[in-house]
Amino acid sequence: MLYVKKEDRYKGAFTRTNFNKGQILLDLSMCLLIRDPSRTSIQVHDGFHVEHEVGACINHACDPSCKIEGLSVVALRDLKEDEEVTFNYNENEDVLANPFECKCCGKMILGRKHE
Ligand SMILES: [Zn+2]
Repeated sequence: MLYVKKEDRYKGAFTRTNFNKGQILLDLSMCLLIRDPSRTSIQVHDGFHVEHEVGACINHACDPSCKIEGLSVVALRDLKEDEEVTFNYNENEDVLANPFECKCCGKMILGRKHE
């Protein structure tokens, strides 16, 4: 459903097929829940995070194509094959293990507790 694309120094998760708004792009329910966030983990509940091989490569965007809903990555709009999948890290992550400067707006992305 999703695959990891690497180009030069860029790495991201992309769609293999078309998706409709509201469809689940990635199911995280089989992932182990962990307590300590890492650079690549995704926060799914208060104090719980998961590591997923492809999910780890989903980049941040302030105007994202997806969101984390429960244990799923869900499309916020219709997506075409080979579109990049992004979500807003500030919406689900309390505190980022690895804060960084956003490419679209230059703002430091720290997690929602810092918003
Ligand atoms: Zn931004």
